[in-house]
Amino acid sequence: MARSLRRPGSQAFLDTTVGTMADSRPHWRSTPDSQNRNILAAIRQLDTADDAQLRWLLEFLRTLLCGDTQRMHGPPELIAPNDFESWFSATSDQTQQSPPPDPLLRQVVLQHRAMANWAGALQSRARDRAAITPADFDRFAEAVVHYHGSLRALERALIHDACMADPLTGVWNRSSLTDRLAAERDRAQRHGGPCSLSMMDLDHFKDINDRHGHAAGDRVLRSVVDVAKRHLRRYDSIFRYGGEEFLFCLPNISVPEARNTMDRIREDIAALRLALPDGSASAITITASFGVAEMDTHHPIEASIERADRALLRAKGGGRNQVCT
Ligand code: GH3
Ligand code: MG
Ligand code: MG
Repeated sequence: MARSLRRPGSQAFLDTTVGTMADSRPHWRSTPDSQNRNILAAIRQLDTADDAQLRWLLEFLRTLLCGDTQRMHGPPELIAPNDFESWFSATSDQTQQSPPPDPLLRQVVLQHRAMANWAGALQSRARDRAAITPADFDRFAEAVVHYHGSLRALERALIHDACMADPLTGVWNRSSLTDRLAAERDRAQRHGGPCSLSMMDLDHFKDINDRHGHAAGDRVLRSVVDVAKRHLRRYDSIFRYGGEEFLFCLPNISVPEARNTMDRIREDIAALRLALPDGSASAITITASFGVAEMDTHHPIEASIERADRALLRAKGGGRNQVCT
C-alpha cells in the first residue's frame, strides 16, 4: 500500500489528512487487521506525543508568566515525523486500499490546530506587549482541554479495538460480537434492508493439528481468514466465534447473495495449498463448511446465529465443503 506521507506539523499534512478524513468511515477501527501489538505501539507513540505537548504547554505558560517572549514557540508537531509513518500504517487496515484515518484522529488533528492557533494569538499579544485578557486566555485553555479530550478519546478507541481483536487472526473476537451484531440489527431495522449471517467451520481441522502440528494449524487459520477477507466489502465483519469457527455479518445482502459470496470463499479456501512445515513437496489443504441465514431483526441475535448454525450442521451432514442456507 503506497501512501505519500506528509509531515504531521505541516499545512500539507493538515489539509490532506483532514480533507480525506472528512467523509470517511472509521476504517482501520472497523476491521481490526492491525496486530494488537501494533495498536499498543501506536498508543505508546501517542503517549510520547502527548508528553511532548505537556512539556511544551508548561514551557509556554512559563514564558508567558515570566515575560520571556523570545523563547516562546508553538506546540510541537502532533506526532514525531519519524514515528508517524509507522504509527499511521500500524493503525491502518493493511488489506484495504488507502484506508482513510478515523474521525477521532481527525478530531485530534483539528483540536491540535486550534490549540496552536490560540497559542499563536497569545504569543503575538505578548510580543506586542499588549494585554492578554482573561477571555483570550480562556479560549486557549479551552483549546488545550479539547485537544487532550480528543486525544484520550482516540486512545480509548484504540485500546478498545486491541481488546476486541483476535490476536491470532486479527478479526473481531467473540466479546465484540453481541454489541456489533446488535448495532447491525438496529441499523437493518431502521433502514429495512436485509442482513445475512454466515457461520463457517473448517472441516476436519483437528486432523491438521494432529498431522502437522499446532503451528501449522494456526497458519491455516490465518490463511483462511485472509482468503475470506478478499471477498468481503468494507462494511462486512468477521468474528472468531470459536476455535475454527467464524461468523460473518454481511449487511444489505440477501441470503442468496450471501450464499454466492460464501461459495466463492469456500472455493478459494479449497484451492489453498499451504507449504508443510518440513518443506516437503506436498501441501496442506483444507475445506470449510458454511451455514447462511438472514438476520431476524425482530428477535434476539442469538436466534439468528442459531439458524446459521443449524444450516452449518446440514452442510457438515451433507458431506462438508459446501454452503447451506
Ligand atoms: P469437523 O469437520 O466436524 O468440524 O471436524 P473438526 O476436526 O474441524 O472439529 P473439531 O471440533 O473436532 O476440532 C476442532 C479443532 O480445532 C480442535 C482444536 O484443537 C482446534 N483448534 C481450536 N482453536 C485452535 C487454534 O487457535 N489453533 C489451532 N492450531 N487449533 C485450534
Ligand atoms: Mg468446530
Ligand atoms: Mg471443524
